[in-house]
Amino acid sequence: MIKISKVKEAYSEIENVVGEDFVTDKDFMKAAYSRNVDPAFPDRWADMIVRPETTEEVSEIVKIANKYKIRMVPRGGGADLVGGSVTESGILIDLTRMNQVIEFNKDDYYIIVDCGITWGALISHLHPTGYTTGIIGPGSGFAATIGGVDFQIVLLVVVLRNMVLFLISA
Ligand SMILES: Cc1cc2nc3c(=O)[nH]c(=O)nc-3n(C[C@H](O)[C@H](O)[C@H](O)COP(=O)(O)OP(=O)(O)OC[C@H]3O[C@@H](n4cnc5c(N)ncnc54)[C@H](O)[C@@H]3O)c2cc1C
Repeated sequence: MIKISKVKEAYSEIENVVGEDFVTDKDFMKAAYSRNVDPAFPDRWADMIVRPETTEEVSEIVKIANKYKIRMVPRGGGADLVGGSVTESGILIDLTRMNQVIEFNKDDYYIIVDCGITWGALISHLHPTGYTTGIIGPGSGFAATIGGVDFQIVLLVVVLRNMVLFLISA
């Protein structure tokens, strides 16, 4: 069990990183983020919901969580079927503000995007160019994010406490 005072201190530090508009501990928000698309699992309420916009902000949040020993769970579209993107206490990190197309290389057929971009936004971005991902994403629909899936991963960037780890798979 985490002391409430530690959660409050962490909240205050995280607020300094992302700004007051992008962190909340209000009950109605905790309730809104307490489930996925998973009818079999009970609600689980985080201590706070954070919505970072940049990798640097995520890195700072990870450092603060580590300092106070508070667990973190990432969340994309919340379409997971088995309760993966909710947490009982701790910090729920909603990554959907990290939704930019970083590089689109038409010659070499690759696109680099933020993890929180949705399949819908990515496909909409590509459609006018005549290019396609080749698949339309998972069956849950276009609100699922790229970060929420694992079956098409080519390059995964993992933000750890003191480093950024790149995982590449074929
Ligand atoms: C009707 C329906 C059909 C589905 N069909 C399919 C299907 O065809 N194929 C399939 O694979 N799945 C399917 N799913 C499951 C789910 O929709 C997919 O796994 C989807 O990709 C989840 O994406 P999300 O952004 O909503 O992820 P979330 O639900 O937000 O997260 C899923 C998991 O990934 C973690 N996560 C989220 N973002 C990140 C990140 N940036 N970095 C690290 N971890 C992260 C979360 O902590 C959680 O454990 C289906 C679900 C439904 C409801």
